[in-house]
Amino acid sequence: MSADASRLDAYWMPFTANRQFKQAPRLLTRADGMFFRDDKGREVLDGIAGLWCVNAGHNRPRIVQAIQNQAAELDFAPPFQMGHPKAFELADRLARLTPAGLNRIFFTNSGSESVETALKMAIAYHRVRGEGARTRLIGRERGYHGVNFGGISVGGMVANRKMFGSLLAGVDHIRHTHDAARNAFTVGQPAHGAEFADDLERLVALHDASTIAAVIVEPVAGSTGVLIPPQGYLQRLRDICDKHGILLIFDEVITGFGRTGQPFAAQTFGVTPDLMTVAKGLTNGCVPMGAVIAQQKIHDTFMTGPEHLIEFFHGYTYSAHPLACAAGLATLDTYAEDGLLTRAASMEAEFAQALLSLRDEPNVIDIRNIGLVGGIELKPLDGQPAKRAFDIFLDCWDQGLLIRTTGDTIALSPPLIIESGHIARIIDTLRAALRRAA
Ligand code: PMP
Repeated sequence: MSADASRLDAYWMPFTANRQFKQAPRLLTRADGMFFRDDKGREVLDGIAGLWCVNAGHNRPRIVQAIQNQAAELDFAPPFQMGHPKAFELADRLARLTPAGLNRIFFTNSGSESVETALKMAIAYHRVRGEGARTRLIGRERGYHGVNFGGISVGGMVANRKMFGSLLAGVDHIRHTHDAARNAFTVGQPAHGAEFADDLERLVALHDASTIAAVIVEPVAGSTGVLIPPQGYLQRLRDICDKHGILLIFDEVITGFGRTGQPFAAQTFGVTPDLMTVAKGLTNGCVPMGAVIAQQKIHDTFMTGPEHLIEFFHGYTYSAHPLACAAGLATLDTYAEDGLLTRAASMEAEFAQALLSLRDEPNVIDIRNIGLVGGIELKPLDGQPAKRAFDIFLDCWDQGLLIRTTGDTIALSPPLIIESGHIARIIDTLRAALRRAA
């Protein structure tokens, strides 16, 4: 089926330049492994695992089968005051993958919902403990935590915030960690910038710790340009949180499920948060699902708290949806069978070297990487931020490669099944596009 312009009007597309898109639509109709096909039958190499989610590659038969079977067996089960076996099984399997202590799983349907859930959980936790004044939330500049009101409030992307009024009250931000002057072209974690964590001490001095519930950060900020945490930074944040009784939330929506070389970035960086948000790779992108993974102590505080009928008054109609749970279980089986949760660690050096081979191409001003995530930052066109990178996105699409751009950074996050030949094709296509754009 090819695009008929008159049939494109009704769908108001998210985060898309609708008017431009509908003049030259890009329609995907099939997918398999590392590749999409478009409506003209062209093969398109997936350089971004769909949207940081299809970690095991597309249309894996085991996952497809599990979803089909589940749809025929139990299509829906109410999640409030009722359960179904696969929800418990998936929670148990997840708890075994996460860092020690993070073993209580609350299911949601997306990254954004996971973030809202974690923020509410943090505030409610302090209240149950008798510290109800701890309501302030701290995010970070250049953070992305989804698009709901809590997420855009703690988030730090101006375009996501400026149209939407005054946002949540009682939110502050620490600075982002990007320091181009000191860290450009670092392979892996930058050497400089652990001291950015000390911004949290300044906020404690300003507001007093007794008013602060939690700080939320992405271990690796993806949507704002692939920002790798400086060495020692996350530990320093952890230490400051511990000193002041502030909860540390890692938003692992993109870093979860093997992206950085361990199941979770918390393990890659050796720092354990109190709450962790996940989504995307949890079901290999096949069925919408997210989760908040809480420390046992947080869960136990609710279970021994004053509200004995319902401990945490929160949830979604589709929490732990049977199709999502079936997809999640088959996804974890696929990751285990193919060794995918640590595969990024063994591909990291090759991927980094390939990325760095673009260093001297026109307009490349920085390259960043960890595991199977890469960012290539371009010098913005005068007066037209983001345009140069977007033009390269369009050129790559024409050449059969899907990449993602955010501002003037090209982000790569391929499926974790990637082989050397795919890496070479991504880099060759990008190199040619960079040269043409110059
Ligand atoms: N948090 C982070 C770190 C993300 O990268 C994203 C999505 N890219 C989200 C939250 C939001 O997830 P969703 O789009 O599933 O709501």
